[in-house]
Amino acid sequence: MTFKAEYIWIDGTEPTAKLRSKTKIMAGDASREVAALPLWGFDGSSTHQAKGRSSDLVLKPVFSCPDPIRGGGDILVLCEVLDIDLTPHSSNTRAVLREVAERFAGQEPIFGIEQEYTFFDGHRPLGFPEGGFPAAQGGYYCGVGADEIFGRDIVEKHLDNCLRAGLGISGINAEVMPGQWEFQVGPLSPLEVSDQLWVARWLLYRTAEDFDVSATLDPKPVKGDWNGAGAHTNFSTRAMREGYEAIITACESMGEGSKPMDHVKNYGAGIDDRLTGLHETAPWNEYSYGASVRIPWQVERDRKGYIEDRRPNANVDPYVVTRLIVDTCCTALEKAGQV
Ligand code: MN
Ligand code: MN
Ligand code: MN
Repeated sequence: MTFKAEYIWIDGTEPTAKLRSKTKIMAGDASREVAALPLWGFDGSSTHQAKGRSSDLVLKPVFSCPDPIRGGGDILVLCEVLDIDLTPHSSNTRAVLREVAERFAGQEPIFGIEQEYTFFDGHRPLGFPEGGFPAAQGGYYCGVGADEIFGRDIVEKHLDNCLRAGLGISGINAEVMPGQWEFQVGPLSPLEVSDQLWVARWLLYRTAEDFDVSATLDPKPVKGDWNGAGAHTNFSTRAMREGYEAIITACESMGEGSKPMDHVKNYGAGIDDRLTGLHETAPWNEYSYGASVRIPWQVERDRKGYIEDRRPNANVDPYVVTRLIVDTCCTALEKAGQV
């Protein structure tokens, strides 16, 4: 017996990395134990991860799940990229998160990420008429009906694929611009939410491929008076889930000193195009809680819960945004003795 393992990794494309994958045929039954899956390799000169002669890089499996596209006993395998001395490659942001997540694991940080994206049919967003624009925004968000909804068959298929893969998807909705959608992953630990979001993104591209439609995480897919695409990042620690003081500490920590800029410049390429102050955003270079980072109304009422960072772009690297938030908030909570 053989099975197919789709090895997936994140490349070195600048300024926004892309997903790559290739198939390995393996003997025996699919061992879902990720540690038992073999290392593999690829040519880094074709993925912006190596130059010149020594371009061999290593794929190290870190997360695996059933492959809902191929079915049967086939699997998806998300990998970290290593150099041939088995140390993390410079493009490997997961390795950096690993250390920070471990350091603050005692505070039990968890995340829910809202991934917005846009379908394209050739050069036009799905639902945009040829050589023009659709009716202005207003009816599309959470809409129903063929005049408002474009791509629902793909969205439903992607949702089913994520569920069959066992990913922690928690919902979907149609967004403000035609052809724009959202899915949510979490709540899960920093590494889990990030690994599963990357796999869910891969499944999005792969699912849409069968419909001859492409999906993009471009934060501003249509210039002008059309919504951008973000990745609202919801966050809590155990102390925040138990009391309001920790909620305030976390919010304030993200506004201190150079923190607003440290975060925002790592929240996805093109963030200044999206965070204009219009379209439900706060200006990218101003920090306020209420707009940049929000305390949801139920949290204010319950005096405990989580906070929502509304700044990350759709094209943010989840390994980076979760690392920055854990580092900033958990350091502040530790200092304040709110752990
Ligand atoms: Mn949402
Ligand atoms: Mn949304
Ligand atoms: Mn939100």
